[in-house]
Amino acid sequence: MTETRDPWLLTPGPLTTSATVKAAMRHDFGSRDKRFIAINRRIRERLLDIAGVRDTHVCVPVQGSGTFAVEATIGTLTNPDSHLLVLVNGAYGRRIAKICDYYARRYTVLESAEDVPNDTDAVEQALRTDPTLSHVVAVHCETTSGILNPIVAVAEITASAGRSLIVDTMSAFGAIELDANQVAYDAVVASANKCLEGVPGLGFGIIRRSVLESCAGNAPSLSLDLYDQWQGLEANGQWRFTPPTHVIAAFDQALAEHEAEGGVAGRGARYRRNCEILVAGMRSMGFVPLLADELQAPIIVTFHMPADPSFDFQDFYNRLSERGFVIYPGKLTVANSFRIGCIGRIGETEIRGALAAIELAINEMGVSSCAPAA
Ligand SMILES: *Cc1c(COP(=O)(O)O)cnc(C)c1O
Repeated sequence: MTETRDPWLLTPGPLTTSATVKAAMRHDFGSRDKRFIAINRRIRERLLDIAGVRDTHVCVPVQGSGTFAVEATIGTLTNPDSHLLVLVNGAYGRRIAKICDYYARRYTVLESAEDVPNDTDAVEQALRTDPTLSHVVAVHCETTSGILNPIVAVAEITASAGRSLIVDTMSAFGAIELDANQVAYDAVVASANKCLEGVPGLGFGIIRRSVLESCAGNAPSLSLDLYDQWQGLEANGQWRFTPPTHVIAAFDQALAEHEAEGGVAGRGARYRRNCEILVAGMRSMGFVPLLADELQAPIIVTFHMPADPSFDFQDFYNRLSERGFVIYPGKLTVANSFRIGCIGRIGETEIRGALAAIELAINEMGVSSCAPAA
């Protein structure tokens, strides 16, 4: 069998990881092993330091993909008396509303189109007119389109109305600054395998300690109860149920590499450069991004599908995949589109490689214009 190089994943996840992160998984750990317990403590503290909230918040990891952590955080921080204002402009916001359905949590959706940021005036008005609203749940970067939501303004409105803020910052945490002094959140949720460049299998909530202390018994789920999970970790440093040991070892290495790259500022700078090169290169071939530059987060870019009948997305996808670049279909309702990610262990070389492969693919397909339908 010949071993081929792994493809570059220009997607919203799973993402490309470094060779050293993958190598960190070549060990077995006992879950009660002193070294393993120390790794967990270090990871939880590092995540609090990245967020800048070591004095006020605690970090509670949970097994599973990012959605497990979102579900666990919402289920733990709310109860049947809560009423959540869910800000939706894409699939991840809609998923939060669906979690509320499963957990029988009362919620109101405030929806804007997928290419339009959260409407902060509408948030303010909703909180003013409905005193039963207890929580605002927002998505920092809505990965469906790649849009950056106005999280600082949403946080200011939520705080001045005296409500609790929960942020799904899955696709931004570790690369886009979220200053806790400006954004007074009770919880943010993220995972190991987006901007932190660990492997998939673990998510976490960073939760205000004083809030979590009052959340015993809220969660309708045993395995997704972050209060219980936190109590277990505080008591003896151990997970309640089998921890994803290899994922955790890889995450420890990924966080060391995040720090070595200059933390949030350094990681964010690489992604912004990836994004700029990508957008400039695609524009020069005639592709049109969905979002104006000022709305675009440097995480993933949505492009309109070319209208030229010679352009077939599956064919395009396959040609890029054969050259070692995996892109992602669109998930928008507002436009026919596809997405190319800027995150994971990729840099200028890989982005330029992808652009070269795209140029070859459209030439081979005989596409004469990459412009979308008028
Ligand atoms: C990736 C992501 C999630 C979690 O998705 P999983 O597939 O469960 O990992 C949640 N919210 C946002 C904004 C995301 O980008």
